Order: sequence, then C-alpha cells, then structure tokens
Amino acid sequence: AESSEKHEFQAEVNRLMDIIINSLYTDKQVFLRELISNAADALEKARFHSVQDETFLGDTKDLEVKIEHDADAKTISIIDTGIGMSKADLINNLGTVAKSGTTNFLEAMAEGGDANLIGQFGVGFYSAFLVADKVSVTSKCNDDPVQHVWESSADASFTVVDDPRGNTLGRGTRVTLHLKEDAHDYLSEDKLKESAKKYSQFIQFPIYVKVKKEVDVEAEEDDDDDKEDEDEEQKDDVETKDEEEKDEEDKKPKKKTVFEWEQVNTQKAIWLRAKEDVTEEEYNEFYKSISKDYLDPLAYTHFNAEGEIEFKSILFLPKKAPFDMMDNYWTKKSEVKLFVRRVLVAEKFDELLPRYLNFVRGVVDSDDLPLNVSREQLQQNKIMKVISKKLVRKVLELMKKLAKDEESGGDDEEEESEEKEEKEEKKEKKDEEGLWTKFWKEFNKNLKMGCYEDDSNRSKLSKLLRFYTTKSEGKEVSLDKYLDRMQESQESIYYMSGDSIETMKKAPSLQIFLKKDLEVLMLPDHLDEPCLQKLADYEGKKFVSIQKADVKLDETEEEKKKFTKIKDMYKPLTDWWKKKLTDLTESGAMKEAGVKVEKVEVSKRLTESPVVVVTSQFGYSAQQEKVMKSQAF
Ligand code: ADP
Ligand code: MG
Repeated sequence: AESSEKHEFQAEVNRLMDIIINSLYTDKQVFLRELISNAADALEKARFHSVQDETFLGDTKDLEVKIEHDADAKTISIIDTGIGMSKADLINNLGTVAKSGTTNFLEAMAEGGDANLIGQFGVGFYSAFLVADKVSVTSKCNDDPVQHVWESSADASFTVVDDPRGNTLGRGTRVTLHLKEDAHDYLSEDKLKESAKKYSQFIQFPIYVKVKKEVDVEAEEDDDDDKEDEDEEQKDDVETKDEEEKDEEDKKPKKKTVFEWEQVNTQKAIWLRAKEDVTEEEYNEFYKSISKDYLDPLAYTHFNAEGEIEFKSILFLPKKAPFDMMDNYWTKKSEVKLFVRRVLVAEKFDELLPRYLNFVRGVVDSDDLPLNVSREQLQQNKIMKVISKKLVRKVLELMKKLAKDEESGGDDEEEESEEKEEKEEKKEKKDEEGLWTKFWKEFNKNLKMGCYEDDSNRSKLSKLLRFYTTKSEGKEVSLDKYLDRMQESQESIYYMSGDSIETMKKAPSLQIFLKKDLEVLMLPDHLDEPCLQKLADYEGKKFVSIQKADVKLDETEEEKKKFTKIKDMYKPLTDWWKKKLTDLTESGAMKEAGVKVEKVEVSKRLTESPVVVVTSQFGYSAQQEKVMKSQAF
C-alpha cells in the first residue's frame, strides 16, 4: 500500500530477535503463553476502561480471545478484543524495548537460561519469533480511526501500513504467525488446543480455539458461521472419521464438517474457590501465569479476610529474587494485583504492600471498594489501608511459618516408617537447605530494609532475621538461637561489622570475646547494622557493638579489683600517650581529617594485639563510617 512505512528496530530488539530466531530451544511453546498473556492484558485494559466509560466497548462487547490455525497458509492467529494499538503504539510497543530488560534477558540466556525466561524481562512478544519467521499484527483501538498492520520478518526492520481491508476488527488485535518449518506441529488441532489450555487456565476471559466438528445436516441451519463452513468443507471431510461416527453414519449418513469455537479455559477465578478444592499444581500454575516466573513459588497463602472489610487473596513468595530487585528498590511497585468484584483495577500499586515486600506476588479481590475508583482515590481510601495491613500480616505469618518449620524440622524426621523408599526421601530432605534458608538467601536485604523502615512490624521481622556469628560455623542463625547460647550473666547481644567474615575474625577487638567464649554476631552486609540499631534490643537484650568503646563485659569482683590496680599502675603511660597523640592530631593530615583523640586507656579487651583503636559508644562504627562515605546508606 502507498501508506506503507518501513521502520528500523531499536538495536536491542535486533540483538534479541537474532537470538530468538536462531535459538535451538526445544520449549518453543512459550510463545503461546506470551501471546495469550498479552491478549489477556489488553482485555483487562479494555474492561477497566469500560468501567470508567460505558460507551467504551461500542459494538465489540465480548471480551475474549480466539485462536485459530490455517493448515494451508501455515499460520496461527491469536485474536483478542482488547484495547488494541494505534499506529504509534505499534511502532513503540513492537519496535522498542526497555534496554535493561533486553540486556538482562541476553545475559540470562548467555548464562544458560532458557527461552522460558522471556516473559520476565518485558519482551515476551518477540517469543513469536521462536516459531515464526514472519509475524503480522493487525490492530484497531478506539484512539485511532484507522486499523493498521505491523509486519516483520525479523530482518532488522518492520513495516506499518493502513489496513487495506478497512477496520475489520472493531476493536482489538490479531497476531498472525507464519510458522517456521519446525513449528508446523502447531497446525495440529490437538497440539494447539493442548498448549492453549495449558496457558489459559487462569485467565479471566474466555479463550476459544477453533475446532472441527461433525454435525447433522439439519443442525447446520442454526449455525451462523455458514460461509466459512462451506469453504472448509471438502478438505476436512476425509480425516475426521472414527468408529463412533461410522456407527452413526449407518443411521444417519448426512453429516458435515463445521468449525466451532471451543472454550479451553474455565473462568472461575481460583481465589474464589475453596482452598480444599485447589490442587498444588493449580496454585503453581496460577502463580506462573500472574508472575511470569518460570519456577514454582516457594510458598503461598490463600485466605478470605472477614470482618469489617472482606476480601479474598492468594499471596505467593517466589523462589528467586528478580534480577533488578535491589537496583529498583526505591521505585518498584508492589505487583499484587488488585481486583474489585473480579475486575482488575490495578496491576501495580504502591499502597497495597510496603516497599520492602514488593517481591510478593498475588491477587486481592475486594467487594467493598467502588469499581470505578481512581488511582488517586484509592491512595486515600481507608479500606485500602485496612487491606494493606492485613496483607502484610499474612505475608509475615507465612514467613514466620517457613522459619519455624525449618527450625523445628530436624527433630520430627528421626522416627519414620519402615519403608525404605520413604526413609531415603527424608534423608535427602534433611541434607537439603530448608525453605527459610533458601528464602533468606534471596530476600534478606528486603527484610533488613523492612526492619529498618517498618516501625509497626519491626519486632515480627526481628524473629526472621539471620546472622553469621562467631559460633555459627558459616551458617546464618536466628537471634533466638543466639539467646539460647548466651551465658547466664550476659546482658547484651554483641555484634561487629566489617567487609567480610574473614577480616572480622582477625579484628583485635574480638579477642577478649573469643577468650571469654562470648558469641558475637558478625555483620558483613551494610544493611545489618542500621537494622540492629533500629531494633535497639531483642527480648530485652541490648545490641552492643564490640567495636565501640565502653563495652561492658560482665566480670567478677576480683577481676574488677585487679583491673583498677593495673589501670592506676599504667596511668603515667596512658597520660603520656594521650598528650603525644593529641599533639599529633593538631597538625598535618590527622588535623585535616578531623581526627580527635578522646581518651587513651588500658583495655580489657585485648589478649594478643598490643593496641586497638575504637570509636566512642555514641559515634559511628568504623564500618558504618565507610558505608556512609560510600553513600550506600
Ligand atoms: P510486556 O507484555 O511485558 O509489556 P511484551 O513484549 O509481551 O511485553 O509486549 C510489549 C507491549 O506490546 C505490551 O506492553 C503492549 O503494550 C503491547 N502489546 C502486545 N500485545 C498486545 C495486544 N494483543 N494488544 C494490545 N497491546 C499489545
Ligand atoms: Mg507480554
């Protein structure tokens, strides 16, 4: 057409497509998941608009997805009546990608990740090129009077034309894949149905696959899809006869093949179902469908909140932290989806969960919120505050359970059934890391941030924290474990911070603690110390940095007397040192650096090194000063 425009793909898209089109991955069927998920997203948007504006749907009232194949043309099409795309949308959405997403996807692939990951990086559309060497996207949206066709053969460019056929879609998008030779098996109805079923189970809109059916000739009159039926009639007659039909044929020879849209999903929302009726498998699949994760979730909680405000929810903890977890910590929004009476009103929403829990996935469905509420109104909404509070509580309860199960895990595994198989399985489990350890490895930074930020849940969070200690043998342990091992006279929980466990082990200030067999928390993460300082104490035991002066070690009367004597004896020496050092700090580099000597005293803390420099009780620890200078906190 005259209005055809050629566009170059953004460089990142080209790189991405190169990898995809040449990929040898066997699991190519993810393309269908990605395209169905895009169709569902577009339908959600249309439904959302229709709630705000009654006229939005116009003549295209049914919100649905249809999938069809054409065995002759070797194509599959995915057609939705969603929001559609304008010409500008087609160019932007299907020609450029967020650079970080692509870079990270390519890195993941280079590290041996498979194409399954694609959805996570916001580039799912391009998975179409796993199975197709040419893709056409026809789209019509309310904002653009003209329907357009986007087309690309993955040759670094794409075209966009005004559709010469006119506005055939009403509203929505049709993605047509011209299948590569090795993907022709998707032209089989069974295969297509099976894949579509797999990925559409939890989608809230009907998804249909076009299937062949044998019908009585009389029944044909009712069918409104006449024209198409006639077209396809002859070629399909041959292959669809099975025994059942032969029986029928005897009685009634007049049969013909027609095409029907067969719905492949049941739309009952999983969160509305009773917990007992939902299988583990269904929870896993549901999680994957909403999260774009390719792994099963680590754990979930499914509950109905009752009382002043009622809602239903399923929340999931992922197994792995997203690649950009901490990079985007300050800007990332909660990805729990908010539904009001089954209609998605917000996909990402700050107010649903506090920032530190923004890795939690799931759904919340409330009957109490108004359906056509704006984002701004939601932010002010009291109901939202109640919902949010409850969600946080549920997430923390779930975490608490994981942590508790792990701590108590070792004991109940001893006396087990006679069966050999079962025993072996248990043994394996025992060697494995517990769920909480796994979770903590991935998300500890979030929980530490939570401990720092969330005043109302800090004490709950403190029970979940894990730290290395001088006695923990390379593992991280809970503060409860520390309390268990405390000496009777011990009043404080001692800690130290540093760049690594190795350097901390060598610190002179640790010597006396090792000698006295006092356990010390070792904090290599710069988020640890701020978290403990906010906590101030745990179960009444104060956190005390051993790297600060005035660390009170509990000691006997005799020890005290002995120490006073030593102190007096060395007074002339310490006075001399103090004067000498003060002189030194009043000129040159020390002065410029603002170094001040507060006091020089005999230390109880050293057993091997001759001297140690410490900061005063109220100053920053040396490690913290380093962190502050590197602006990380
Ligand atoms: P993501 O879905 O993560 O945003 P994709 O690569 O799958 O990434 O899709 C890119 C964008 O293209 C979508 O965000 C959307 O704006 C647009 N898009 C894709 N498919 C459709 C569709 N069927 N209807 C409307 N817009 C679509
Ligand atoms: Mg997508």
